[in-house]
Amino acid sequence: MNSRMPALFLGHGSPMNAIEDNAWRRSWAAMGARLPRPRAILCISAHWETRGIAVTASAAPPMIYDFGGFPQALFDVHYPAPGDPTLARRIADLLAPTPVQLDPARGLDHGAWSVLVAMYPDADIPVVQISLPLGETPATHYGIGQRLAPLRDEGVLILGTGNVVHNLRYWRGGNPRMDAAGARFNAAVKQRIAARDHAALMDIAKLDPEAALAVPTPEHYLPLLYVLALQAQGEPVTIFNDADGGAISMMSVLVGGDEKVIPNF
Ligand code: ZN
Repeated sequence: MNSRMPALFLGHGSPMNAIEDNAWRRSWAAMGARLPRPRAILCISAHWETRGIAVTASAAPPMIYDFGGFPQALFDVHYPAPGDPTLARRIADLLAPTPVQLDPARGLDHGAWSVLVAMYPDADIPVVQISLPLGETPATHYGIGQRLAPLRDEGVLILGTGNVVHNLRYWRGGNPRMDAAGARFNAAVKQRIAARDHAALMDIAKLDPEAALAVPTPEHYLPLLYVLALQAQGEPVTIFNDADGGAISMMSVLVGGDEKVIPNF
């Protein structure tokens, strides 16, 4: 019997979470061990935006070190998970007639590998990424997520990776206006998730008077919408890693599945 895979949105925060022993990394490792083992992983990362929709179609996606100013140890991380060109074509079929570019060269960005290296350190589960199409409305992103739902019944773990609040200008903290706006926005998002009010979550600017401070650009927020779009009516949703850091929220969401996979209530 093929049971339905849960779907997951993870706040990824700093790339250093890939190599630091901290609560985030430990929670990702524990979940990787406790979730039903996926046949493949489809990742929607904040760090891949394209004109139109693209999907990685390499059989051996290379590493992308899409950051600067970090220690060499981070550039030494390798995550040699295979790709899955058949899954890439399946995704294009699911999204038809919307055009999907199958990208034979694109690798895994740090939004994907920084969490996967903790969740599945053996790198033995195929990973495919789908890009965020630039300039589309939140409702369009949500609609793409909905059309990916059949993959949950095909053993695919759909993994969104971003941050609900993400303003790098203030990431060092200590700005009272940013900290207040971040906390309010984070709380507003949690409340709408709990109420399954996805329409409200697509109207980002209305979630808080200072939403533009919490979400100055949408790419870290949008992966959440892909994951929430997979929530069937009546399906449970669990919020975890809910630490508000002012300019960065690590709040994460499990759709479906058994909440006992989450280690840190
Ligand atoms: Zn990021």
